[in-house]
Amino acid sequence: MYVRFISRFLSAMAGPRPVVMSGPSGAGKSTLLKKLLKEFDGVFGFSVSHYHYVTREVMQADVAKGEFLENAEFSGNMYGTSKAAVQAVQAKNLICILDIDMQGVKNIKRTDLNPIYVSIQPPSMETLEKRLRDRKTESEESLQKRLHAAKVDMEISKEPGLFDVLIINDDLDLAYGKLKDALLEEIQKVRDTNNS
Ligand code: ADP
Repeated sequence: MYVRFISRFLSAMAGPRPVVMSGPSGAGKSTLLKKLLKEFDGVFGFSVSHYHYVTREVMQADVAKGEFLENAEFSGNMYGTSKAAVQAVQAKNLICILDIDMQGVKNIKRTDLNPIYVSIQPPSMETLEKRLRDRKTESEESLQKRLHAAKVDMEISKEPGLFDVLIINDDLDLAYGKLKDALLEEIQKVRDTNNS
């Protein structure tokens, strides 16, 4: 009884668990997120990406100290999500959404963040290709790159224990229902805390 009280108290202090959303480009992460943010106003938040605010040297030092959950370099610029940025969102009693690639997922696995890991996958490579083509955001070259990365992503995501929930985004409403189910407990916690 006492232990349960303490552990509840500690987890309430830390704020709601963040949510890692991963999956190939074109799987439907933004589409699902948009629905979620629309239905649950004031429940979710986003961490601020770090790269605008610090110099390269400061960021490299922080990465070395392990203060980043994930970081990457694109065309000479460093980007990353710091632990502090996620904690700031949690402290506001918001569920922090982290839209992160497979490498980022593996990095976060080594931290004590304790998020809910959700993988969004397309029903098939053919469907993914069609959706990416219809989205009209890709050149032929980037499309081929994304399809290749998707194949790798789909394989790795099946690794037992890597994700808490694996959602195949075939029918959008069904996929959205599964996403909501996976997050319901945290959503309820946010609402309970706001109402108490
Ligand atoms: P991601 O954010 O993972 O890159 P998007 O949300 O942009 O993917 O989705 C890719 C494309 O597929 C978009 O044009 C979107 O409208 C479409 N789409 C997403 N989910 C579905 C679905 N369940 N059925 C049909 N089209 C979908």
